Amino acid sequence: MRKYVIMGVQGSGKGTQSELLCDDLDLVHISVGDLFRWHVQNHTKLGAQVRRTMKSGELVSDDLVESVVRDRLDSHDWNFGFVVDGFPRNGRQAEFFMESYDIDGVIHLELSDDEVRRRVLSRRLCPGCGMDYNLIADRPKVEGRCDICGTTLITREDDTPEALAARLRDYYEKTKPVLELFRRKEVVHDVDAAPAADEVQASIRSTLGLPAYEPKS
Ligand code: AMP
Repeated sequence: MRKYVIMGVQGSGKGTQSELLCDDLDLVHISVGDLFRWHVQNHTKLGAQVRRTMKSGELVSDDLVESVVRDRLDSHDWNFGFVVDGFPRNGRQAEFFMESYDIDGVIHLELSDDEVRRRVLSRRLCPGCGMDYNLIADRPKVEGRCDICGTTLITREDDTPEALAARLRDYYEKTKPVLELFRRKEVVHDVDAAPAADEVQASIRSTLGLPAYEPKS
């Protein structure tokens, strides 16, 4: 069983790297942000509770987050393990997590603030199938349209300069200390997130002692 947490500032590629890892090793990707976005898009009661907070880039309340994470992890729908992405994000969430679950490693993606801004502000999302794009490195074939389903691409409501500033502030104030807690347990693997996605994935595999990554051509 392989159980990992992936951490890093917004735009550091947590989603992309988690998917590459999970697709290949048959792990389940548990993205707390994606779970919330699903609720917002499907107009659930929870979606209505978190929409405004997410739009502003602030953190959702710990009680809500913990119940969503508990429900998700309680479903035990993995055979080989999971990668948790976007959690824990503050001290209380870290305590809740460490009391309830064992993990094998924390992947920490490191990226400068300038590169974060450049990446996040050029990010686009397909509201139809969830595919994400980047106008710098990963453009859609037809401008503004999803390659997979043809839906018009949108900008995430929290990918604005104001919301990004709030998220960066939260990251340094609240999330970085969580990393220090994990460091004390000697489970953190620092990975440079600036190179191309394939290279970053290769570094993750090597630092975790996992089978080498073979990019799909
Ligand atoms: P993400 O896709 O991980 O950037 O998450 C998008 C938004 O979902 C965040 O800006 C928060 O509003 C909310 N969110 C996701 N994970 C958490 C968490 N662990 N704690 C609080 N809020 C969260």
